[in-house]
Amino acid sequence: MIYNTLIVGAGPAGTGPLILAARKNKLAEFLDLGVAILDKHTQMGRGCLGDYIVNSDTYTTVFLECLEGQEKGGVLDKVISSKITQSLEKYRDTNAPLSLVGEFLGEVGDALQTIIDRHPTSQFFPRTEVHSLQVLADGTISTSTIRYLTDNLTIKQKFYSQNVVLALGGKQHLQNLNGDPKFQKLNLSNQVLEKVLLSDFVLRQAGVNEMQKRLENSSSKKVLIIGGSHSAFAAAWSLLNKLTGVNFSEGDITILHRSKIKLCYRSREEALEDGYTDFTEEDICPITQKVYRLGGLRTDSRELFRQVMGWSQEQQEKRINLVEIPQDSKELKNIETYFNQTSLIIYACGYDSNVIPIFDSEGNEMELLCDHRGSRIDDNGRILLKDGSPLPNILAIGLGAGLKYSDKLGGEKTFKGEINGVWIYQNTIGETIFNQIFDPPTSFGKLKPKNIDSTR
Ligand SMILES: Cc1cc2nc3c(=O)[nH]c(=O)nc-3n(C[C@H](O)[C@H](O)[C@H](O)COP(=O)(O)OP(=O)(O)OC[C@H]3O[C@@H](n4cnc5c(N)ncnc54)[C@H](O)[C@@H]3O)c2cc1C
Repeated sequence: MIYNTLIVGAGPAGTGPLILAARKNKLAEFLDLGVAILDKHTQMGRGCLGDYIVNSDTYTTVFLECLEGQEKGGVLDKVISSKITQSLEKYRDTNAPLSLVGEFLGEVGDALQTIIDRHPTSQFFPRTEVHSLQVLADGTISTSTIRYLTDNLTIKQKFYSQNVVLALGGKQHLQNLNGDPKFQKLNLSNQVLEKVLLSDFVLRQAGVNEMQKRLENSSSKKVLIIGGSHSAFAAAWSLLNKLTGVNFSEGDITILHRSKIKLCYRSREEALEDGYTDFTEEDICPITQKVYRLGGLRTDSRELFRQVMGWSQEQQEKRINLVEIPQDSKELKNIETYFNQTSLIIYACGYDSNVIPIFDSEGNEMELLCDHRGSRIDDNGRILLKDGSPLPNILAIGLGAGLKYSDKLGGEKTFKGEINGVWIYQNTIGETIFNQIFDPPTSFGKLKPKNIDSTR
């Protein structure tokens, strides 16, 4: 069978366009086209988000908004009245533990799966790991997978489709620290590199256990965190809140950041009321009027930063020390001490895309347009070839997919990083992907969130 669309990866991003379709009452029509959803894990919807031990960096409305406007008997009807949703509702006006968010997203995924199961032309394939794609001469895409029938019994299977949506999530690489031109000048020894843990790991329970083990056995409690965004502050938050019997003293935790730390506010007025003036008009989202909507710290991370700066009502947080990486190479040498004197280094500098090879009809691997973080996509979510032209019918969404600022998406013009977030997957970029497949002449407009807290 040739599917219309294969969605590879059924986490928050892969399921985003399906949720968008459900909210537009177009899910049944979409599934009638023939959609296969593949994931190496067993459940749709959850992805990795529920594995993190920190609270969400968005307000809970981000996650609950998908339930709004559901008719009785609608796709997500069962989720509305579930116990997990009721628990999440308690956090509606604030942020929530990501473990609970993960359970909720899993329930949303289960509800989607129930609908998919009713469609003879569409199917969810769990425990199915995708290894490569090949664009055949007639444009059909062949996807090679291994299906785990049991832990020990696997079969190789090919899927054929007209479109593929890659939603594989992202990963972090230690090599990025070794290869970072800034740090190369520091001549970091192997001993230093042995101290490094990736932030994605330390934000999971196994990583907390590892930090606990390393720090309780070490006379020095000095920790160096490299990065200045949410992951870096979330790692600092976990050190202070998740370890037992490890007492940090003043200045023990250093956050080494490249550029100035930015804070997100719901409006210019809210920022000014808080005494925060370090932004210009260019840093305000023209759609939502939020300050640093994309690049600013939110929720617990923002509060922690305010405590470090002594701006909060709470006691000043002196255990954390903020150091900006010097631009001057002579001064750069001074930060070597932080690397040498520390017991633990946490590398929190973003995610690379989880790429799989894409071959042409002759079996040659296609050269994609990549930057140092992985492959790139255009504003329509299409993967770009090395010459900058889009690869027809192969789209990407989600962590590591490299979605950049555009006027259509909104946010602050000055933002140079990658845009991510559950709301974006289920709304703006989710709609772009959906239109690209379902209704190719894109009808995408500037989508204004209903609730100001619903966006990143
Ligand atoms: C620490 C942290 C906190 C975050 N907090 C928030 C937040 O509070 N609010 C918010 O809106 N966003 C948040 N985000 C951003 C984003 O929403 C999440 O990262 C989200 O999990 C990304 O979803 P995803 O589907 O792209 O990736 P993932 O959640 O990683 O899902 C990818 C899916 O693809 C599957 N997969 C991977 N490789 C293969 C393969 N080869 N074959 C088949 N299946 C495969 C995986 O099993 C998984 O189900 C956070 C991100 C991080 C890193």
